[in-house]
Amino acid sequence: MPQAQIIDGKILAERLRAEVAQEVAQLKRSHNLRPGLAVVLVGADPASEIYVRSKGEHSLAVGMHSLTHRLGADTGQAELLALIGELNADPAIHGILVQLPLPEGLDERCVLAAIDPDKDVDGLHVVNAGRLASGLPALTPCTPLGCMIMLRETLGDLSGKRAVVIGRSVLVGKPVAQLLLAADCTVTIAHSRTRDLPDVVREADIVVAAVGRPEMVRGDWIKPGATVIDVGINRVPFRDPVKAAQGKTKVVGDVHFRSAAQVAGAITPVPGGVGLMTVACLLKNTVTAAKRLRGIGER
Ligand code: NDP
Repeated sequence: MPQAQIIDGKILAERLRAEVAQEVAQLKRSHNLRPGLAVVLVGADPASEIYVRSKGEHSLAVGMHSLTHRLGADTGQAELLALIGELNADPAIHGILVQLPLPEGLDERCVLAAIDPDKDVDGLHVVNAGRLASGLPALTPCTPLGCMIMLRETLGDLSGKRAVVIGRSVLVGKPVAQLLLAADCTVTIAHSRTRDLPDVVREADIVVAAVGRPEMVRGDWIKPGATVIDVGINRVPFRDPVKAAQGKTKVVGDVHFRSAAQVAGAITPVPGGVGLMTVACLLKNTVTAAKRLRGIGER
């Protein structure tokens, strides 16, 4: 039996979606504003199709305006940029998300740069990355935002805590490190060239693992009582040879849950943890963008 508190992504994501729904209703009543999210899917990647459908359903469920543009895999760069231009100019749309990865031949960086930074609800535009690094109000990538909500829920004030983030991607590692820094943590960013990684992790009151390596972080790397946020989503074959022979797979995180849960004070499970927060944070970002574009509340 794990001794750690399990940080339940399902409960927290449900609560966040309920809060967003309330805010959407309030914005409609008091400002006649219905936040609108446009999701653009290019090609027919099955995993992307599932994510896009889920984003559309969740945004409708909280009362938002939702648009999904499905473009063929043969869509050219100019056509995609033209669509983004239209969405940038559309006053009913406050959030634009281009589902990644894009098919080969499309320049991801150029496409992301074309999104109006004030509608960039994925938080991947360099202007938002720069705002975040400069301590200015930014639209922040959704998964890091979800990690912070989970940490605040578990620990309250994060000030002075030692945090180790494993991974330095633009999508997760770097923004989560910036958010922890903004919350007054002492932050170390570890990556594939970090020496003595287990010793580095043992220093941490907060561990955020965003590596993409199944169960890499072991229980004996964790300082007793630390809070562990496992961002990893890795599909691996079952150990059971019968299931493995049937080609069945399961999802595990970047943390070896069983051993880490014996030592940690609190830990997110995979599945059922951070992953569930990501779409809820996308909805929250869309409300934030809509309010800022209308000049409601603080910028
Ligand atoms: P990337 O592959 O972009 O980045 C992985 C990072 O881990 C890199 O910075 C890399 O270092 C580092 N790394 C790789 N191997 C090691 C190692 N042996 N020791 C230490 N660091 C290492 O992945 P992402 O950040 O996009 O995603 C990370 C994980 O999170 C994946 O499992 C992904 O599926 C999951 N994910 C989950 C989401 C969710 O909603 N829960 C959303 C997004 C991602 P270097 O820079 O040196 O190469």
